[in-house]
Amino acid sequence: MSLPADLIEQLIPEPLPTIEQIEAKYPPRSLAEGQKVSRIGPSPTGFVHIGTVFMSLVNDLFVHQNEPKGVFFVRIEDTDQKREMEGATEMIIKTLADYGIRVDEGPTLIGGKVSGEKGAYGPYIQSKRGDIYKAYAKKLLREGKAYPCFCTSEELEALRNTQEQEGTRPGYYGKWAFSRNLTEEEIRKNLADNKSFVIRLRSEGNGEKMMKIADVVKGERFLPENDLDIVILKSEGLPTYHFAHVVDDHFMGTTHVLRGDEWLNSVPLHLQLFGALGWKAPKYGHLSPLQKLDEGNRRKLSKRKDPEASMGYFEEHGYPRRAVLEYLLNLANSNFEDWRRANPMKPYEEFEFALKKLGNTGALFDFVKLDNVSKEFIARMSAEDIFRDAHAWAKQYNANLLQLMESDATLVKNILNIERTGTKARKDITTWASLPNELEYFFDAHFKLTKEEAIERFAPVADDDARAVASKFAAIYSADDDKDAWFEKVKKLAEELGYAANVKDAQANPGKYKGNVSDIAKVLRVLLTGRAQTPDLHSVMKVLGKERCLKRLALLLA
Ligand code: GLU
Repeated sequence: MSLPADLIEQLIPEPLPTIEQIEAKYPPRSLAEGQKVSRIGPSPTGFVHIGTVFMSLVNDLFVHQNEPKGVFFVRIEDTDQKREMEGATEMIIKTLADYGIRVDEGPTLIGGKVSGEKGAYGPYIQSKRGDIYKAYAKKLLREGKAYPCFCTSEELEALRNTQEQEGTRPGYYGKWAFSRNLTEEEIRKNLADNKSFVIRLRSEGNGEKMMKIADVVKGERFLPENDLDIVILKSEGLPTYHFAHVVDDHFMGTTHVLRGDEWLNSVPLHLQLFGALGWKAPKYGHLSPLQKLDEGNRRKLSKRKDPEASMGYFEEHGYPRRAVLEYLLNLANSNFEDWRRANPMKPYEEFEFALKKLGNTGALFDFVKLDNVSKEFIARMSAEDIFRDAHAWAKQYNANLLQLMESDATLVKNILNIERTGTKARKDITTWASLPNELEYFFDAHFKLTKEEAIERFAPVADDDARAVASKFAAIYSADDDKDAWFEKVKKLAEELGYAANVKDAQANPGKYKGNVSDIAKVLRVLLTGRAQTPDLHSVMKVLGKERCLKRLALLLA
C-alpha cells in the first residue's frame, strides 16, 4: 500500500534533489579487483576514545595493505545532535592526523577548525547530507516500504508496558506496529492536527527466521531476521544511524564496514535496508571493544572510569604516538610482536595485518605491555628523532623538559645518544615525560648531591676507600680512553684498594677481598651522577666531560 503523492509531499516536502541527481553526483567508484573502501563513522560526542584510533588503525591497514591501495575515509556521524559536543569533530580529525593514520577522504581542518574536505563523495559530515536521506526516505514512502508513525512517547511507553506484562518481546513490530495500517484519512487528520511524526520502515522480515551472516572478522553467525519497523527519519527530519549509514555507505562506495561489535545484532536490519533500497550491501566485520581487568573481571574500557580510554591520556604522558599504535597493533594481531622482532626497522605499515586474527573477544588493555612496547620503540629511534619528537611534545606539555632541551641541545643529544649506536640500545626511556629524569643529572644546575647522600648511596664501601677511588681515578682518568682502557683503569684501581678485579675472583676467594670492581664503579657512578643506576658509565663520563667529572669527584675530598 502506498500513499498518494500529495500526502507524501506533505510528509517530506520538496525541494529535494531527485534520485537521478543524487545517483549522478555519486557514481560508483571505479575499483580494481580486490581494492577496498572502508571508513569509520565516529560521533562527535566527547573526547577521542582509544577505540576510535584502534578502529582507524585497523581500517587503515586493511585497505592500504595491498596494491592497488584502497580508500579509508572518515565520516562524522552527527545526527544525534543532543549528544554532540563542541570541538569534538576537530579533535577526531586532528588526532587521526597527529597519529599518522592514512585518511584518504574526509573533513579537513584549517587553523584547527573544520574547513572543507578531501574526497569526491562528500559531504563527509552527516548533518550536511540531510536532503539525501530525505530523498530516499521519500522513495521508500512512495514504494510503500515506509510509513509515517504519529505515536507519542507516552503511547510507546504504554506499548512497552503492555508487552512487558504479556511477556512478549518488546518493540514496534507486527501487530504492535499500530501506525502501520493508518488510513489515508487518519494520516491527513494527524497532519492537520500538527502532530509530530517519524518515518518507519515497513519491515517484511520474520523474527522467527534465522539468517546466516558472514562476518569478515567473527566468521559465520546466525541471527534472526529483523521484523522491527524501525525509525528511519526522526521527527526533526534527521535520519537514524541505521538509515543514514546505509545511504552513506552506498553512495560513498564502501566495500567493507569494520565497526564496533555493538552493531553485530543490527546486521540483519542493515542488510534489509540495503535490500529495500535495491542496493548491494558492503561486507561487515565487527571488532570487539578493548577491555580491561577490573578486580579480576573483564569489562569494556569505560569513558567514565578509565583515563586511558581517552587518547588525551597518552598524549599528556608523552608516549610516542607510533608506539601507541604499535601497542594497539599488538592487541589486534598477536603475531605483530614476532614480526617486529624479526623486522626491527620496518615501519609497521609493512606488517601483514589479518582481520581474522582480531579474534572474538576484546583484547585486554595492559599498561605494563604498553610501557614495554614504548620502551622498545624508543630504543629503536635515533637520538635526533627522539630529540625532535620529545621537543615537540615538551613544547605543549612539559616546560621543564623544554628548558633542558633548549638550554643545551648538543648536550641533550649527546645524552640521548648514549648506548644508542651499538648493538644493545638502552631501554630506560618509556615516555617523553620520563626524559627530565634521564637528563637532569647531567646539568650542573640540576645536579645536587651532598656528601651524606653519596655515602649512603654507595654503602657499604668505606668512606676512606671511596675517597681513594675519587682522588686516584681523577688522577688517571683520560677522556680519550676507550671503553676497554677505561675499564682496565677501574679494575686496576679496585685491586690496588683490595677489591677483586672481577666478580668471579671475589666469589672464588671469599674473605680475601673487601668487595669487587662493581663496588668501585658504584662509588664513581654515585659521585658522578648521584644515582645507583645509569646507562654505561664510560659513555656518561664522556658526555659529562672531564671538567665536570673532576668537579663531581672532588665532592668527598673537600
Ligand atoms: N556512529 C556509529 C558509532 O558511533 C558508527 C558505527 C559504524 O561505524 O557504522 O558507533
